[in-house]
Amino acid sequence: MFERSAHRECPSCALSIDAQADVCPYCGYDLPRTAASIKAAAVVFALLMLWPLFELARLIFR
Ligand SMILES: [Zn+2]
Repeated sequence: MFERSAHRECPSCALSIDAQADVCPYCGYDLPRTAASIKAAAVVFALLMLWPLFELARLIFR
């Protein structure tokens, strides 16, 4: 049973650690906030990609 919202697996030692932890308390592995940062980057990237489409749509459908 995994509580994904509260814990995640350390990629180094494979132990269950706090999902909010920046460093693994067992092996000291530095845990980047990949999920959050990738999600944020994806949102920014999507906005950058979609913005010209919105502008194009405004030009076409005005
Ligand atoms: Zn670890």
